[in-house]
Amino acid sequence: MCLTCSIVKGAKIPPGGLIYKDNEVVIHHCIDVDVPGYLILSPIRHVTTYQDLTQTEIMTIAMILKEVVAILQQIPDVEKVYILNLAEETSHFHFHIFPRYCWMLDSFNAELFSDGKLDGAKLFSYYRRENKVNKLQDIANLEQTIEFIRNRLNSGG
Ligand SMILES: [Zn+2]
Repeated sequence: MCLTCSIVKGAKIPPGGLIYKDNEVVIHHCIDVDVPGYLILSPIRHVTTYQDLTQTEIMTIAMILKEVVAILQQIPDVEKVYILNLAEETSHFHFHIFPRYCWMLDSFNAELFSDGKLDGAKLFSYYRRENKVNKLQDIANLEQTIEFIRNRLNSGG
């Protein structure tokens, strides 16, 4: 069983538990990166590509994405929200919903830039690597952020 299916079935508990679940999709916090509000949105069904999604799943994902991005943008210091689909480590189709905080923009860090311009893909990779943790329960503030997102999401924004 893949990581996402384990989370959907409750065999693995992500930090703070599931943030959102309906008949089509599930949202949970990233399990091993200390970036508050870094979320994973997946269909409940184990499909591996966007083309495998049903029309209902696509509609649900589109609507919930809009909502969750708006919620993340209410978090202080979040300047922008990245949405990515890579599926290199986990085959189960998913979107990374990654808040870019103002503290991430370090103009002296050459690893974040390409040709003098901020490179979002590099920034995402950099902070995924730098903020990777073994024990997520040790992270301060994460629970608070998860509760904030969960409350807003389940009360319609
Ligand atoms: Zn799966």
